[in-house]
Amino acid sequence: MKVLVLNSGSSSIKYQFFDMNTKEVLAKGLVERIGMSSAILTHTPTGKEQIKIVGEILDHSIAIEYVIAVLLSKNHGVITDKSEIDAVGHRVVHGGETFSGSVLITDQVMKALVDNIELAPLHNPPNIKGIEACKKHLPNTPQCGVFDTSFHVKMPPHAFLYGIPYELYKKYKIRRYGFHGTSHRFVSERAAILMNKPITETKIITAHLGNGCSMAAIDGGHSIDTTMGFTPLEGLIMGTRSGDMDPSVILHIMAKEELSIQEANTLLNKHSGLIGISGDSSDMREIENGVNEGNKRAKYAFDIFVYRIKKYIGAYTAALGGLDALVFTGGIGENSEMVRREVCKNLECAGIEIDVELNDSRPKGEVLLSKKGSKVNVFKIPTNEELVIALDTEQIVKEQLDSSKE
Ligand code: ADP
Repeated sequence: MKVLVLNSGSSSIKYQFFDMNTKEVLAKGLVERIGMSSAILTHTPTGKEQIKIVGEILDHSIAIEYVIAVLLSKNHGVITDKSEIDAVGHRVVHGGETFSGSVLITDQVMKALVDNIELAPLHNPPNIKGIEACKKHLPNTPQCGVFDTSFHVKMPPHAFLYGIPYELYKKYKIRRYGFHGTSHRFVSERAAILMNKPITETKIITAHLGNGCSMAAIDGGHSIDTTMGFTPLEGLIMGTRSGDMDPSVILHIMAKEELSIQEANTLLNKHSGLIGISGDSSDMREIENGVNEGNKRAKYAFDIFVYRIKKYIGAYTAALGGLDALVFTGGIGENSEMVRREVCKNLECAGIEIDVELNDSRPKGEVLLSKKGSKVNVFKIPTNEELVIALDTEQIVKEQLDSSKE
């Protein structure tokens, strides 16, 4: 089976095309600047030269036409007929409370996605446009939705409810949803395999540290708590997001600076976190350079970033009632030895002891970073959200084929 995985944003579509027999990526690419006359499609067939195509790509439907055409193209393509695309898997940001797992897209599912728009007004509409474009150009191809939220949806009420009037949860679905679910699921499953234990017998904390950052407490393969909340703003300090703070702070700032709701939203989502504190950059590499050069504000940003991860490790160890593994993933988690080293420093009391020399040697791939004898296994595991989407899609489509045979 061959599966096309799509991640549709407001002006971009990322794609990867998988051969599920080998789990290999046959081609991947990105359409950028959708809506403009000089949109760009960058296409990389595995093992071949990357090409760039500039064209007038005014909407998602045209973008999908371009993607299909380049997959079919004589010189740069990897298939000879559209029918070789056996299924399409879509990343969908918000599944609300409706979806606790990945699903085959049906009319009923489309309706539920539309109903969930108000929970993710920036992300779900382009996800829906991507699905509609595929329905138009690949009308006979099954499509599946894989949600960022679904892994966390079954958290217990004490973890997902906020301390506000309960009626507001009932009325507006205000609760913790959590995000990065495909990544937390993937790396926790990998950690269980690396520990040679059934996932049902593991207690794992995962730290997905990229531009957006979140942690999850995973008990027996189920997310029981996570740091992101109603939106991705809560929890850890991120590249440009504030993470946790006293909610009164924003009310105070709005009053003092006479900010509109939109401006306050932009302040917290785009101008806070690493960039807000350092005044310099949202990129961890540059923050680390700043720390090494003695820049005081870069050091504040770095220290707050690390401290908050440490606090959640403590909190989630308590929530889980023990800990078998701590997993670092995402651009920072996979690549920043400095963040991993500082996070794990002085956590011997929690059974976490990393091999600093190994950590600092920047080992590649999946690596056990803890010392022999460390009670908790510390891993760095590269995430692969696209593969999770492809695997879920393959499974759903196979189940559907099997049930239609019965
Ligand atoms: P996204 O969340 O957009 O997918 P990534 O997971 O790629 O982003 O993470 C981006 C972050 O990873 C940036 O802050 C970047 O600085 C950081 N990063 C990448 N490589 C390194 C490195 N070698 N050392 C420290 N940070 C790194």
